[in-house]
Amino acid sequence: MGSELIYRGHEAQPASDSYSPKPDKPWASVTRAARYMLREQRLLFVLVGIAIATLIFTIIPTSRVQLAPHTTTTPILDSITYFPIETQNKFSYQHRLGIGSGNPTGKIPLGLKRKGLRIVVTGGAGFVGSHLVDRLIARGDSVIVVDNFFTGRKENVMHHFGNPNFELIRHDVVEPLLLEVDQIYHLACPASPVHYKFNPVKTIISFFTRLAKRVGARFLLTSTSEVYGDPLQHPQKETYWGNVNPIGVRSCYDEGKRTAETLTMDYHRGAEVEVRIARIFNTYGPRMCIDDGRVVSNFVAQALRKEPLTVYGDGKQTRSFQYVSDLVEGLMRLMEGEHVGPFNLGNPGEFTMLELAEVVQETIDPNARIEFRPNTEDDPHKRKPDITRAKELLGWEPKVSLRKGLPLMVSDFRQRIFGDHKEGSSSTINKASSG
Ligand code: NAD
Ligand code: UDP
Repeated sequence: MGSELIYRGHEAQPASDSYSPKPDKPWASVTRAARYMLREQRLLFVLVGIAIATLIFTIIPTSRVQLAPHTTTTPILDSITYFPIETQNKFSYQHRLGIGSGNPTGKIPLGLKRKGLRIVVTGGAGFVGSHLVDRLIARGDSVIVVDNFFTGRKENVMHHFGNPNFELIRHDVVEPLLLEVDQIYHLACPASPVHYKFNPVKTIISFFTRLAKRVGARFLLTSTSEVYGDPLQHPQKETYWGNVNPIGVRSCYDEGKRTAETLTMDYHRGAEVEVRIARIFNTYGPRMCIDDGRVVSNFVAQALRKEPLTVYGDGKQTRSFQYVSDLVEGLMRLMEGEHVGPFNLGNPGEFTMLELAEVVQETIDPNARIEFRPNTEDDPHKRKPDITRAKELLGWEPKVSLRKGLPLMVSDFRQRIFGDHKEGSSSTINKASSG
């Protein structure tokens, strides 16, 4: 052993002018290496190693997750390998998912399970967030909910307590927070006019894209149809820039979300953060805050309590109502897909508030009275999403009509208001998705 080391040292020395050693025989080093390998059965170890490596990477067939629109398990690994790795952040995002340069085809050896992601859902104790958390946990991901319970409730996520894949952090998103995660769904923000007008300045600043930049996670912003303001284009396409009053009582929300979109895109362009933007249209379903002042929750609670349905203004203003399971599906497709957006996520079925009141009467109480009240300031006259882009690029469209979704919300509200109904809220959402 000692002599070999000394000999290699000689090989490495540069040739000097004063001394020209006899050149090595060309095959000498090869035969030396062969003799070394044969001694003490080292060759056997090398061959066994090569055989094992070949077995794992070549002989065992690999499974490839296929992009399959309208399936419930979203094929994150495959969809992400479709777009080029151009930036450091894209690399780090893909690297986290285990699909970096070491495995350029995105193939997972058979028998190895898809690695669960670590995902933050801000506002995850709220209405939409808690349904999203259910889907992510069911898919096998680890979810960290960050919520200050301003409008959300622990009850919405309590069924995950004790699950090692679930964590809940009471935290206000206006304060910094550093978490090592793969994806961030940013929902934290009061969504009903009553709540967002309560602390308008806070409404504007409730976003924290910095987190995504620090850890290289993909960041999805839940923006809103309110960015179109009182729209002059109908239905609204994503290319429409909107008609928003910058100094009105709704501006903290409308302009706050517009600013959030701007910041999100600036981080994307300037700091190469991976981002996605969803523009959500009016959404309803189980777990909505009962007294949040939104029209669907107001009408349902009023009809159940035998109170008059309060129609603001003349009731001819329109909205398009989307069931929450459709929205969650759209958000997940957007996050896993290859397009930044913005994407309208809403149900194009358009109703005046008087028509909505009629559907509520049909569903709950045909004798429910309607009471007209003065309308609120800057109330948009009409709203209906053009979802062509989401259909084409995400393969997404809503499946649950208002007449089908409303009864599912009613059973949840009945249970929470009177405590007399057996059916739980988590089962109602699944029924709608499968129907
Ligand atoms: P929600 O009020 O039920 O949920 C919001 C959640 O965020 C709550 O759990 C609340 O406690 C939490 N939160 C609010 N401010 C926070 C803060 N500063 N720090 C930490 N947590 C905070 O509302 P939602 O209907 O579930 O809406 C979720 C998201 O979707 C919001 O960003 C909203 O703007 C957007 N959106 C919803 C609709 C809709 O019709 N539901 C429409 C358009 C956009
Ligand atoms: N609205 C109503 N009665 C209510 C609550 C709201 O007629 O009890 C109207 C409101 O004026 C608006 C529409 O319903 O035109 C939707 O209001 P919501 O607050 O649900 O959503 P947003 O205005 O944010 O779309």
